[in-house]
Amino acid sequence: MISVERPLAILSALAEEQAGLVERLQDAQCQTLAGREFWSGALQGVPVVLALSRIGKVAAATTTAALVSHFQVGAIVFTGVAGGVGRRVQVGDVVVGTGYVQHDMDASPLFPRYEIPLTGQTVIHADASLARALAFASVVGLQGIKHAGCSATVHQGLIASGDRFVNGVEETRTIVSAMQSAGHEALAVEMEGAAVAQVCHDYGVPFAAVRTISDRADDSAHVDFPVFVRDVASVYAQRIVAELLRTLSV
Ligand code: SAH
Repeated sequence: MISVERPLAILSALAEEQAGLVERLQDAQCQTLAGREFWSGALQGVPVVLALSRIGKVAAATTTAALVSHFQVGAIVFTGVAGGVGRRVQVGDVVVGTGYVQHDMDASPLFPRYEIPLTGQTVIHADASLARALAFASVVGLQGIKHAGCSATVHQGLIASGDRFVNGVEETRTIVSAMQSAGHEALAVEMEGAAVAQVCHDYGVPFAAVRTISDRADDSAHVDFPVFVRDVASVYAQRIVAELLRTLSV
């Protein structure tokens, strides 16, 4: 599925999302590049590089390019949080991205809305087997876990990224319906995934992301979001990553 000779990068936007992983890293070595810390070592016997993408598409693209060209990673997995915009996507659920679109990409009328100029591409697809492995790891890793009395549902589908924290019912409706008009049914919104996917696509590096739903991208998103990231998302991320690494190391 993915190269075992080259390390697996595990990327998150926020330190809280990756809490616990750096502490568990064996033979840990830290290198600073482009103002970012990259932690190399092994987790459950799998060679990994841990990094924070930082927030937003450009920051995430810079981190991704460094992971690929400097650290020579063989694949990238992103774990983080996102706003749920799909009808059945609730806080505490998990979305594994099978495709990624930039909801704020608009070079129309020169190029069709959402198309990445000069590439002819709109949706960048995840590596199918890595996304499948992540979805499986999410189902197994979150067994028995409940948020607000409900088990986490693992969804698979389109993730929309853009340089804005989406926190308003009207704003969400505008983004979602404009995307639907172009045939794109987004399940979640966040700020990095499509950028990481584009860089990975250009370099031919397998990529997939899993996002725990921290808010509904509505008027209370900014209130729900920080508490959830601190208390819930880091636990989910650790369990999902542990399960993914278990399947990769056998
Ligand atoms: N309060 C944070 C900023 C977080 S920005 C701080 O001070 O550090 C939100 C992060 O969570 C981004 O990395 C984004 O990918 C994700 N996210 C969660 N909910 C989101 C939403 N409703 N809209 C956009 N991004 C969201």
